[in-house]
Amino acid sequence: MLRKLVAGNWKMHGLSGDLDEIRQIADQSRAYPAVDVALCVPAILIERAARSVPGFAIGGQDVHYAEKGAHTGCESAVMLLDAGASLTIVGHSERREAQRETDQLVKEKAQAALAAGLGVILCIGESLDVREQGAAVQTVLAQLDGSLPDSIGGEAELAIAYEPIWAIGTGKVPTVSEIAEMHAAIRRRLDDRFGADGRKVRILYGGSVKPSNAAEIFSIADVNGALVGGASLKAADFIPIVAAAS
Ligand code: PEP
Repeated sequence: MLRKLVAGNWKMHGLSGDLDEIRQIADQSRAYPAVDVALCVPAILIERAARSVPGFAIGGQDVHYAEKGAHTGCESAVMLLDAGASLTIVGHSERREAQRETDQLVKEKAQAALAAGLGVILCIGESLDVREQGAAVQTVLAQLDGSLPDSIGGEAELAIAYEPIWAIGTGKVPTVSEIAEMHAAIRRRLDDRFGADGRKVRILYGGSVKPSNAAEIFSIADVNGALVGGASLKAADFIPIVAAAS
């Protein structure tokens, strides 16, 4: 049985004044030692957040595939680690859309992060059109195939976040059977591709997870945690989700 991972994605939210909220989330998470908890914050906040909550997992939201060089505005895995991050999100749908990130680019980012020793939460998910056409599973598996690193099993851990685009920030959530079907398909694909190493990869659900629906989502087979956006910004919303995972 895999330990559950509940990771918050703060997106473009968070100023110095919010460090106190991060401290509260870290402190209150200690009451749930059976759950791994992380917060992925804006790059500029990583170092201050990591310093203010020693021992708590702070992550980035993106990473460049190169170690260093002429890449204005980007951060490498080594830089994130140096700032105190222990993981990063890659391939979030907001970046795939707005920054036109391809599966190949996401794969390169994931590989670079894992090779440097940075944990990865790799996001995949279908649009509403695709879901309505009945092509959600095949589309998400194709995205997974194109985005997965060639090999896993090193020190740094890979997790997959299944995030239907139409459920992110909308309050809409797939049915229990839709989540179960997708997570089972992802689990089989990881098993086929990586064998025993694939069975250690946690599959998170993401998209409008809230205190009110978290327990039901965590009870679904092959849901090994959650990636949480809006409800991760306040300890009052996020900690009940951590508690539901416990
Ligand atoms: C996300 O952006 O990863 C996400 C799941 O957002 P929300 O929880 O707000 O839907």
